Amino acid sequence: MRCPFCHQDNDKVVDTRTSDDGFVVRRRRTCGTCGKRFTTYERVETTQIRVIKRNGQRVPFDREKLRQGLERACWKRQISDAQISTLIAQVESDIDSMFETEVESQFIGERVMQYLGELDQVAFVRFASVYRHFQDASDFAKDLGEMLEDPDEIPYHLKHLKHSPKLRFSKANTKRI
Ligand SMILES: [Zn+2]
Repeated sequence: MRCPFCHQDNDKVVDTRTSDDGFVVRRRRTCGTCGKRFTTYERVETTQIRVIKRNGQRVPFDREKLRQGLERACWKRQISDAQISTLIAQVESDIDSMFETEVESQFIGERVMQYLGELDQVAFVRFASVYRHFQDASDFAKDLGEMLEDPDEIPYHLKHLKHSPKLRFSKANTKRI
């Protein structure tokens, strides 16, 4: 690794540790030429992949944004950072194995919801309610009906949507509204 200060390739690793629950290796290096120290980060190469949004726009896959969304959904739930990291890694692995350069945002959302649903129902509902923006409210209601044993866990704002006659938590109603 060339030194960012003097540009010589004469470094020595002085410290190695993992962070981000073992998914990132951080190496502290010292330059044998100028004596300055610098740090490198190593992670499994995954997605240089682009995400196709609903409006057709392409954006780079953003792991941190996904993590933030998951952390909000898991707020005060019994879900550890390690579980969130594992979930993200699972989703990235799915993307890598099924897509070359582009993936629809819908695929990512559905995968996240699948894994989150296995972890925690409340976090699932929170994530789904943000992710789906009620664009397909009746499909969402159907999923909720299947996921939730306790209707009290359906957030208040979902139970009281203005156009609510169609948002009955029944499996029969799958038409888009
Ligand atoms: Zn140097």
